[in-house]
Amino acid sequence: MTWCGQCDRDFDIGLLGEDGGCPVCGQWLAKPSRGGSVPWHFWVVAAGAVLYLGWRALQGIIWVVQQII
Ligand SMILES: [Zn+2]
Repeated sequence: MTWCGQCDRDFDIGLLGEDGGCPVCGQWLAKPSRGGSVPWHFWVVAAGAVLYLGWRALQGIIWVVQQII
């Protein structure tokens, strides 16, 4: 539970906004302990970066092989 002094009540951590704000007044409430959960869109970006870098690396390997042959 996270206490909001502005609303004078507590909220479940899952009810907080995406930025860790109070769902009623929007005041920032998230505790540092919440850092353990990574938002799903982070993994989308990370997967995209890995795929892109992997593709670039593959292109580099193909280029090197073509120079040897
Ligand atoms: Zn509030």
